Amino acid sequence: MSIINTSDQYVTEERHLTAQLPDIGKPRIVIIGGGFGGIQLVKNLDMNAFQIVMLDRHNYHTFQPLLYQVATAGLEPDSIASPLRKIFDNEKNFFFRMATVESINPDANEVVTDIGDIRYDYLVIATGTKTNYFGNKNIEELAFPLKQIPQALNLRSHVLQNFEKAVTSDSQEEIDRLTNFVVVGGGPTGVELSGALGELKKYVLPKDYPELDFKMMKVYLVEGLDRLLPTMSEHAGGKAHKQLTEKFETIVRLKTMVEDYDGYEVKLKSGETIPTETLIWAAGVQGIILPGLEKATVEKGRYVVDVFNRVEGYENVFAIGDIAKMSTKDFPKGHPQVSPVAIQQGARLGKNLTRLMRGRAMWHFVYFNKGYMATIGRNNAVADLPYHIQFSGFPAWLAWMFIHLVYLIGFRQKIVTLGNWIWNYFTYDRGTRLIIRPFNYRRAVSRKKTELEKENEYTSQE
Ligand SMILES: Cc1cc2nc3c(=O)[nH]c(=O)nc-3n(C[C@H](O)[C@H](O)[C@H](O)COP(=O)(O)OP(=O)(O)OC[C@H]3O[C@@H](n4cnc5c(N)ncnc54)[C@H](O)[C@@H]3O)c2cc1C
Repeated sequence: MSIINTSDQYVTEERHLTAQLPDIGKPRIVIIGGGFGGIQLVKNLDMNAFQIVMLDRHNYHTFQPLLYQVATAGLEPDSIASPLRKIFDNEKNFFFRMATVESINPDANEVVTDIGDIRYDYLVIATGTKTNYFGNKNIEELAFPLKQIPQALNLRSHVLQNFEKAVTSDSQEEIDRLTNFVVVGGGPTGVELSGALGELKKYVLPKDYPELDFKMMKVYLVEGLDRLLPTMSEHAGGKAHKQLTEKFETIVRLKTMVEDYDGYEVKLKSGETIPTETLIWAAGVQGIILPGLEKATVEKGRYVVDVFNRVEGYENVFAIGDIAKMSTKDFPKGHPQVSPVAIQQGARLGKNLTRLMRGRAMWHFVYFNKGYMATIGRNNAVADLPYHIQFSGFPAWLAWMFIHLVYLIGFRQKIVTLGNWIWNYFTYDRGTRLIIRPFNYRRAVSRKKTELEKENEYTSQE
């Protein structure tokens, strides 16, 4: 492969370099995304029958359910990240490339990536979701999202930097802005994050900053609907509300929408304003759709798939997990965007692709709902299990920890996480409240603004 050095960047001589992927004489499955769905898919494929090419913009899998613990100094980032090459390191027909997929060219059976075009025989889209700001540009520029590990680390640094700044400030107005935290979205992420911030306030930060009066630290949780955890039972929502307000003094605002944010003050639709330099956006996600397939394949930001996870209108293109919209009798609007769906669809498609290649009929996907859980600080969680079994408190918290350890990928990650949890539990401490990579909020905002302007220019030219 020859590389030409142009004036400002290195470019490959021709685009069709196939990212140095050898042709091993087996049908090639290209999987976009090493998330829950992508990994399970590979685990369930006949590894001798295919050449498997996994593409991901990161070289690791992110265990998103515990991102909030990284953001609140409860866990190290490497406890919830597993290197994708390591997961399949003994598989000779497995090839990983760290690459961002830019589009799909179904006529040529190729994906266009930032490392060149890659040919496929079967394509599986498992790109998951990104944060949905519902068109509010100010919030997109200024709020903290929580979808990726770098975002969780930025938030961790920002929260700790706020307290370092507050301790040196002589302005009560500034101290209020630095020590108020507004979480938007009363789903599991918002509830868990508010609980973790409440724990920091109650047990951890007062030891670090004895000069500050922690009564002034306020955590607001803002939800548009009339209760917390709207995707879970009323029992779970009520318990979470009680625990947050009574134990952690969280200020919960229901039936409340955020209207705008300027980086210093959140404006609610009710007219109320909250001074804060930290607005955390956990209010919604949207699928990561790649340009290239027919427009009709996308509904509500997800690819429409049949009961085999095959994208409507394409023989050899599949979509699994959060990005797939499969309408069934039980789930007419598509399955919930949670990890068990992605895991089960990945596993079923892995088996199905092997069957398809051997000329056998594929099996329908049927979702087995094992229940939903959310934790609210130490010793407390809520759980909704099938057959209307609901429980909460300490037993639910133990079950929550056990399940997360089971699903966490990598033996080392399980041990480190368990170790951190034991330490945090008995010491009422958080071992990782470190500002390793200081976060310059204002600089990051101006960078994001430029990126968004470029994106807008590009879309309006198209
Ligand atoms: C903060 C948070 C908390 C959550 N908590 C829970 C919970 O408690 N329980 C639960 O069941 N679910 C939870 N979820 C949802 C769960 O994480 C998702 O349902 C699950 O990750 C979906 O799996 P997936 O394989 O579809 O996508 P993901 O796991 O999101 O994987 C997508 C992968 O695709 C890659 N990718 C995306 N676009 C590109 C591209 N263009 N090029 C290359 N690579 C790309 C990404 O880097 C990523 O690795 C939570 C999600 C978040 C954000």
